[in-house]
Formats: sequence, structure tokens, C-alpha cells
Amino acid sequence: MQLIDIIIKKRNGIACSKKELEYVINEYTKGKLPDYQLTAFLMAVYFKGMTDDEMMSFTQIMMYSGVCYDLSDMGKFLVDKHSTGGVGDTVSLILAPMVAAAGVYVPMMSGRSLGHTGGTLDKIESIEGFNTVLSQEDFRNVLHTCGYAMISQSEHIVPADKKLYALRDVTGTVESIPLIVSSILSKKFAEGCQALVMDVKYGSGAFMKSIKQARELAQQLVKTAKQLGKVTISVLTPMEAPLGKMIGNFLEVEEAIHCLSPDYPDEHLSSDLIDLSIYLGGWMLYLAKLVKNQKEGVARCVQVLQQGLAWEHFCENVTLQGGNMDLLLKQVGTRRATLKKTISAPRAGIVTAIDAYILGTVATQIGAGREQQGDAILPDVGIELAVKPGDSVKEGDTIMTIWHEKERYEDNLLKILTHAIHIGSDNRSNTEHEQIFEVIQ
Ligand code: URA
Ligand code: CA
Repeated sequence: MQLIDIIIKKRNGIACSKKELEYVINEYTKGKLPDYQLTAFLMAVYFKGMTDDEMMSFTQIMMYSGVCYDLSDMGKFLVDKHSTGGVGDTVSLILAPMVAAAGVYVPMMSGRSLGHTGGTLDKIESIEGFNTVLSQEDFRNVLHTCGYAMISQSEHIVPADKKLYALRDVTGTVESIPLIVSSILSKKFAEGCQALVMDVKYGSGAFMKSIKQARELAQQLVKTAKQLGKVTISVLTPMEAPLGKMIGNFLEVEEAIHCLSPDYPDEHLSSDLIDLSIYLGGWMLYLAKLVKNQKEGVARCVQVLQQGLAWEHFCENVTLQGGNMDLLLKQVGTRRATLKKTISAPRAGIVTAIDAYILGTVATQIGAGREQQGDAILPDVGIELAVKPGDSVKEGDTIMTIWHEKERYEDNLLKILTHAIHIGSDNRSNTEHEQIFEVIQ
């Protein structure tokens, strides 16, 4: 089989056979095909798409590119959540301990930052000592002890996604429905979860800019998952503005700690981040049949947060996965990159929009993400927002703080960031009313 023939076939919009897809994925995973040809193949998929059958095969081949965990003997329902990628999306760090505290197991295999979006793995690894590469035995032990575990793809589990994800990240081939579906579902089903809640994002900070594209992705995720025999629901959620107030790696760990810690004052929390976390948590508990409906699931999530149970699970997990909890607590509020810049409001008014794409792109450039394969992440850089859409500001008020290091900073970034926040006279606050999310099941 020649890769060039498969590339041309895909380029011409003809569906590939399972054998051809097996050849592409398996040989590339073994290191036998060059990045430039794989890039051409991925770009052909980006432009020509895949049929339902191709997508199912592609997902299965990726999933079986390494070992698949069978956790069905563990005694509790296993449910997971995955987001299609956003900016400041700290949800997983809050959701996993919260839902675990409510009584299900969450075997969470996450991704790294991709394009302008952040990745749970990069965030959690900013905790000193935290290890996301666990043997199957350790993975089971951590899950059993604290109800959730956070792991990465590796040479053993979904190695195909590990390689393809890194290549897509730097070749402009992220925003493709078949590539996203196969990447997400292969990871999620190899880790052994029995049901999945998908948070499908739309808007400037998402890969799918329109709700129509996001709906298509959401429907395809549910459809392919069903073909693979797994219960999956998709929730469409907006990603116009970043979630919460922190964007970065350690900054987002800190934001999650604020949300989980029962001692932190509620009025300082970002309601968008908490609301989405408990909303998705409600669905996870419902799919696990722990509650009669999603609303009851939400109430249960609120309860475990208030009782400090989610926080206890978080602390236990950090320690079990090698993280230094004492040091972590000391670092909250103090650990920042060495250089600091602030942006202030050029005039008084109401914050009408905060462009998540611009903030995500700048955060990536200053080192919260990667611009090239293998780039090191700078865990302490990032952006701290002082305002959210709907807030009013006076001229000169600080609207954001940028924490950065000398080597990954360019002067034009401040100018770019200034354009990310719109201040108008519209006094309708869009944070006051409850969000209604569209659910696809
Ligand atoms: N998250 C993933 O895991 N993969 C993608 O392709 C996009 C988001
Ligand atoms: Ca955030």
C-alpha cells in the first residue's frame, strides 16, 4: 500500500477503506511514515471530511492503537466528560473531584493545549510532582481510592492520538469534525468509561465558530459513540468569552482550587465556570443513574461542593498522583511568572464582550500553549481578568493582568489584548439570567 495513493484518494473526496485507514494510522504510530505526508493526509481530511463509516473505523483504529482498559469490574459506574476545547476552560479540574465525591468513578484521559485552547494535562502538570503517566495498576488504584484519576495518552494507551494530536496542533488541521470526533472518542473509550458527556463549544474561542458547526460536531459525536455502543450526550455551550477569570496553567489550577475549596468566598467565584461545572456534573450523575434527572444531579453537585467533599477528593487525588499538596497550598495566590503588565479601561462603561480567541492566542504565544511541536509550556504565565461581560468599569480600572516571561513576549501583544475587551454603553447584563444550554442525545 502506498500512502501517496491514499492521500490522493482522500484529496479527491473518495472514502478510504478500513484497511487504508489502518495502514495510515498504524504505520504512522510506529514512526514509519513521515510527518509531511501525514500532514497532507490530515489536510485532505480537513477539506473533504469523512463518511460515518470512515469516522467509526478511524476512531476504532485509533482506540486500538494501544491497550484499552476494561474497568467494568471496579464496582461503580464510570463516567467522563470532555470538552471540544476552549479558553480558560477549567471545568474538568472542578468537575472530576465533584462528580467523584458524589459517588461515580471518573477515569479522565485528557489532552494537552491544542491551537489557542488550553489542555487539562498541561494545567494539572503545573502542580509540582503531579504525574499523569500511570501504569494500569496505578490508574486503577487511584480511581479506587479517590474516585477519579487524570491521565494522558502515552506510548501504551491511544499512542495514535498522542502523535496525531501533536501534529494537528501545528499544521492547521485541528478544526475538522472527523479528526476531532476520532481524537476525542478514541481517548475516552480506551480509558474505560461507560458513558460520556461532551461539552461542545461554539464561538470565537472554540474550534467551531458557529453554533451550526458545533451542532454538527455534537450530533456526530453522539452518532459515532452510539455506533461504538457507548452512551454519550452532547451539550452545546458558548465560548465567546473565556470561562472564569483565569487563563493559563497554574492560574487555572488556582481557579479550580477556589471553586472547590469550601472556605473561599462565593462572591469571588465566577458563576459561569461554576454553573457550567455543576450543569455538566448533573448530566454525568444522571447518566450514571445515581439520580432521577439532571436537575437532581445538579443539586447533588452543589451539595458535595458545599460540604467540602469535592475539595477532599481533589486533595487526595493530587497526593495520590505524586503532587506536593503542601507546596501547592502555599503557592496559591503567590506563584506567578516573573513579569507583569496590566491593561486598564480606556473609558467608563459596561464590558460587552471579551474575545476568547484573542486571549487564547496571546496566552499560547506567551507560553501557556505551544506554537511548535515540542515547545516547553511555561506553567506560570497567563492572563487574569478583573472583569467579566456585564461588569461596569470606570476609566483607568484594571481590566486584566498579564503574567509573562521575557523570552516569550512581544511588545505588540498588549495592543492585541486591548482589542479583546469591548466596553460599551449597553447596560443589559448578560450574566444575570440563567444560561440555557442545548442538549443533543
Ligand atoms: N479535544 C481533543 O481531545 N481532540 C481534538 O481533536 C479536539 C479537542
Ligand atoms: Ca478559567
